[in-house]
Amino acid sequence: AAQQQINIHDGIEDTLRLFAFKLKHGIKVERRYDLELPEVMAFGSELNQVWTNLIDNAIDALSEGTPDGAAPQIIIRTCHKSSHLRVEIEDNGPGIPADVKNRILEPFFTTKSMGKGSGLGLDVVRRIIENRHSGSLMVESRPGRTCFAVSLPM
Ligand code: ADP
Ligand code: MG
Repeated sequence: AAQQQINIHDGIEDTLRLFAFKLKHGIKVERRYDLELPEVMAFGSELNQVWTNLIDNAIDALSEGTPDGAAPQIIIRTCHKSSHLRVEIEDNGPGIPADVKNRILEPFFTTKSMGKGSGLGLDVVRRIIENRHSGSLMVESRPGRTCFAVSLPM
């Protein structure tokens, strides 16, 4: 499929709908959307795969609990500048230890138990963002706050 004008929020909402069952066990999703977010030329179904993989990881992390016992939540933020738009998917789960963080983008790297994780989710995310959209992926993490930020050129 060719690139098309994509409304990022529609793609995220479509993805969240598919997670409705997994999310209803007490995870709150907070949307902080930039209401003036422009559309971008992109591969829509591939971007939906990105949101899927990042939200899936956030849900898995939150299933381990939150460090301070706070209510589990996922915050989805969008914003834009003249040349880029940015989507952040944040959770308040346990965080990513430094030695693990160095390796999370490697294909087949997973900390999940046998059969639960392929270790391919973030490799796919990185390839879709960097190779297919000339964008970038950033990760910040500490206990109680892990944030994956996707930046896409406009
Ligand atoms: P998988 O989910 O199959 O393990 P991924 O490539 O999606 O593979 O993620 C790789 C690893 O990165 C995970 O096993 C986990 O250790 C870590 N990780 C990814 N997202 C998060 C997150 N939101 N919180 C904590 N750890 C994470
Ligand atoms: Mg994953």
